[in-house]
Amino acid sequence: MIPASSRTDQTPDSSPRRTDSGIATRWQRELAEAVKSPRELVAALGLDPAVLPGALAADEVFRLRVPWSYVRRMRRGDPADPLLRQVLPVARELDEHPGYTGDPLGERAALRAPGLLHKYHGRVLLVTTPACAVHCRYCFRREFPYAEQTAGAPRWNEALEVIRNDASIEEVILSGGDPLSLSDARLAQLTDALARIPHVRRLRVHTRTPIVLPSRVDEGLERWLSRLPWPVVLVLHANHPNEIDADVRSACGRLRATGATLLNQSVLLAGVNDDAEVLAELSRRLFDCGVLPYYLHLLDRVRGAAHFEVDEERARRIAGELAASLPGYLVPRLAREVYGAPAKLSIAPIMP
Ligand SMILES: *Cc1c(COP(=O)(O)O)cnc(C)c1O
Ligand code: SF4
Repeated sequence: MIPASSRTDQTPDSSPRRTDSGIATRWQRELAEAVKSPRELVAALGLDPAVLPGALAADEVFRLRVPWSYVRRMRRGDPADPLLRQVLPVARELDEHPGYTGDPLGERAALRAPGLLHKYHGRVLLVTTPACAVHCRYCFRREFPYAEQTAGAPRWNEALEVIRNDASIEEVILSGGDPLSLSDARLAQLTDALARIPHVRRLRVHTRTPIVLPSRVDEGLERWLSRLPWPVVLVLHANHPNEIDADVRSACGRLRATGATLLNQSVLLAGVNDDAEVLAELSRRLFDCGVLPYYLHLLDRVRGAAHFEVDEERARRIAGELAASLPGYLVPRLAREVYGAPAKLSIAPIMP
């Protein structure tokens, strides 16, 4: 039996009553209108309804959520579309696989305060919200106990107190969920508090929102970013070149104009991007948007995601082919997260 995900009904700050001014912005409306029903997605893409029973069963464990702007980048009638595969619940998620667990990274052990993960020297990761604009089926935090472990508003204080009292922490990483599913006002509230801690020198934001919902990069977000008192690193998350369309390119341009450094991390996913040519094209398109590749992660063994696994030997060969086809700065580092290790582990490519 698979435990019900603790995040199936977590909603981003998309409902009008939760906005700062009482009026929903464009991205908040788009988020509220995101596809949440497998039936609706299958119908919109003209897919074979035979996939529905499996989709509905897996949806019970971890809800479908995908903005229309991302759906529009999928091919109609193609059940193997690489973007669709990242978001459509499938029956295979319900199979049990030895070694696939609810907490593959041992994150619960690394918590120093509600929502504050401290695994690596000098940097902490703050789980700011359980909500994401999209639900990725391979997500390693599908079963993270967000209800107890989010540093959300009244509970930021405890996490902030730990950061304040540990001068070795020089970088704060806003993560989640997806921090950009918070409103600009809530983001500012958090960074205003961080700005009062003198030893914090860098701010990093881990976000997939500019890729799946580029309208999130609006004037309010630009204003928040450009007023931050530190060098800012935005680590985006795109897995396939088809995710990069004109709207994403223009969102990245606006993010860059705030002075932020833009990086991308991908997850190596069977049936989505386990191909050196696809990954090479992703790197080229990202660079066209001013984004440098950072990590190519091996899948974390989270329950429900085994069908996305690419074994390490194949991953190393793909990484080798990728390295052989691109300039060094367009090659992401193949890495795996290993429980208890002092950094993410780099994995050597096997050259062709
Ligand atoms: C991935 C991760 C980081 C960041 O690691 P980098 O190698 O600096 O990108 C920090 N904290 C936690 C808990 C992480 O999982
Ligand atoms: S956006 Fe990131 S945190 Fe959110 S579901 Fe996807 S992989 Fe998980």
